Amino acid sequence: MLKASGIIKKYENRIVLDDVSVEVEQGKITSIIGPSGSGKTTLLKALSMLELPQSGSIVLDDKTYNFPEDDSNITPPWPKISVVFQQLFIWPHLTIRENIELPLKLKGLLQENKAYLEELYKMFHMKEFIDRYPNEVSLGQRQRGALVRALALKPDYLLLDEITSSLDVEQAEIILSHLVKIKEKGVGIIMVAHDIDFALSSADNVCFLDGGKIIKQGKPYEFLLETENKRISSFIRSASLGTLDVKIYSGQEEFQAYHMAFINRIPEKSVVTVIGGVGDTWFSSMGDKYKEFDDTRKRKNIKYRMLMYEIGSKEKRLVRERPDINEYYILPSHVKNLANINIHDDGAVVLQIFDTVPTVIEINNQALATSYMNYYNDLVKQSEKLLG
Ligand code: ADP
Ligand code: MG
Repeated sequence: MLKASGIIKKYENRIVLDDVSVEVEQGKITSIIGPSGSGKTTLLKALSMLELPQSGSIVLDDKTYNFPEDDSNITPPWPKISVVFQQLFIWPHLTIRENIELPLKLKGLLQENKAYLEELYKMFHMKEFIDRYPNEVSLGQRQRGALVRALALKPDYLLLDEITSSLDVEQAEIILSHLVKIKEKGVGIIMVAHDIDFALSSADNVCFLDGGKIIKQGKPYEFLLETENKRISSFIRSASLGTLDVKIYSGQEEFQAYHMAFINRIPEKSVVTVIGGVGDTWFSSMGDKYKEFDDTRKRKNIKYRMLMYEIGSKEKRLVRERPDINEYYILPSHVKNLANINIHDDGAVVLQIFDTVPTVIEINNQALATSYMNYYNDLVKQSEKLLG
């Protein structure tokens, strides 16, 4: 466990981190998000003890640092904690390979780690550029070099500062998919996330930093569903809206057409997950089309996993008749007034509104879908299963 509590950091007399607490376990990812200038980079510097805070404490597994602590007394926690900063600090006169190997060479550990390094080069697809100089490779490749240099020292904790901020989407995705593998190998990752979608889908925990204070800390979906704090909700929306692909279908005719097209389009044995099933309201919006919809669904063995507000007689019959494709739960009583949210296998999130006219809002975004899926799984744990 890497756990900081009550961290206060001042530059001159200005407080930049104000009573900040954050933690990560090995094998988990904690994301830090927040506006520019909120203190994210400063927090990573404090956690890695490159710049000591004035107050607070840091627990690193079985070792505790209490601040203020004297620079000269401190044994820095490197390479148990490794940091990759935005400015990559790559030597221009050394090849990527030499940059990565240098820290190991200085410690006399290069020979015994050769095989491990080769494994890393392979994992990060670095063969073709490993022996080039930094100015002969792309920014994404330099970024991978910096990440692998940090990993070469086998850290238990990895601190990453917006490492995908200057990459195109494709290269960012390559790096982010590697992070998930690194976490699965048991490394604890604290990342200042430029990519809000990634922060909200792959992190185990998210902290929102604003003006040097953590103003919210929780699971990713708690941020997506945030409505009370306008600063957080507008930050999340403005940061992730660019990648959303949204379509709206309104009125009974479009509602029915959407659902018929959907049930015909998706592959057999797909799974649809629903948060907030509305019972008879849905069937009445489908009107006389519902029978055709249900027949198609049964024929294609399309499974619905549903958290219901309300169970209608049609659902009860469906569960009795086809328990194999119908898994229904009753929502706990404290959950009220949520939208009806469907999560499709292919990463689409569908919101349904049954106000005056039934409306479908389809959002194609894998991060949003993953985040809602985690929310569904948490709610299922608190719910009762409906048995026919
Ligand atoms: P973020 O990474 O969230 O954009 P930073 O941690 O870089 O924010 O900076 C937080 C605040 O601290 C900013 O107002 C910045 O100007 C100030 N700051 C950062 N480093 C220093 C420094 N070495 N000396 C004085 N002020 C600094
Ligand atoms: Mg920064």
